[in-house]
Amino acid sequence: AIPLVVAISTTLAAKNGLLIRNRTAFENARKITTLIFDKTGTLTTGIFGVTRMGSFLPSVSENELLGLAAALEQNSEHPIATGIINEAKKLNLDIPTVDGFEAITGKGVSGKVREKKVLIVSPGYLRENQLLIPNKAIGDASETIVFILIDSQLGGFIALADQLRESSAEAIKIVNDQGIKTFMLTGDNKTVAKTVSEKLGMTGFMAEVLPHQKLDKIKEQQQKGEFVAMTGDGVNDAPALAQADIGIAIGSGTDVAAETADIILVNSDPKDVASLIQFGRATYQKMI
Ligand code: ADP
Ligand code: MG
Repeated sequence: AIPLVVAISTTLAAKNGLLIRNRTAFENARKITTLIFDKTGTLTTGIFGVTRMGSFLPSVSENELLGLAAALEQNSEHPIATGIINEAKKLNLDIPTVDGFEAITGKGVSGKVREKKVLIVSPGYLRENQLLIPNKAIGDASETIVFILIDSQLGGFIALADQLRESSAEAIKIVNDQGIKTFMLTGDNKTVAKTVSEKLGMTGFMAEVLPHQKLDKIKEQQQKGEFVAMTGDGVNDAPALAQADIGIAIGSGTDVAAETADIILVNSDPKDVASLIQFGRATYQKMI
């Protein structure tokens, strides 16, 4: 039988934007010592706009670059892809067709456009391939930057930005005040992760983490004796959500994340995580 106090709290939880898929996990919320948040789409809206772009090749205009990029990104569901496609549509650009599209997990995408091999990749990918990041590309520390390679040549860059969700800072503050450590876990570059996590007052960040490594980061914390909750929205967060002691999905996120999670934040409001912790503690106190 379900203890009455827990049943009541589940109803209360629903009123506070929490959909409980796993009651045991909900009851364990009081044990959380570390709360890990994905960045894009979780602490931020995940709705990217293009803020700057530049070509490194005199023969390729910025519009041509954007057209190439949009062509490749039509095959991707990443928030970056949506941002790039929207910009190209806004400018009414001609979007060529793509052959042999491939995703480079956690690093970018590739394909053949107009007989040329085109890649759109992260700064980390450039570093791994001993390519220098041109000064021209460096801008605002909170921008996400992707680079376009055309037949192995650095063709240009596109900088994008999204916005913090309204309640992210408050959510982090409430959780921190409960003595729980808060970390950002993201595939995005270190500069963005550092800037955004500090702005939010988080305990720390883990950046340039590939999708399969997100799970390892959760395990590392668990091996240190932490009771870990993870909040995320993406397909790439699902293994980490499954590994965490409590997996929490953002309602507006992917189905895969929702299906893997123990709890869903139906209003996509990070502050509801704070309610979860408060409920967890209150429920327990009532039970004993
Ligand atoms: P996040 O944790 O932000 O969801 P991902 O693991 O999905 O990160 O992606 C990490 C990085 O890989 C992105 O910041 C970007 O640089 C690059 N990337 C991933 N998918 C794409 C894409 N479709 N187009 C361009 N770059 C991409
Ligand atoms: Mg995300």
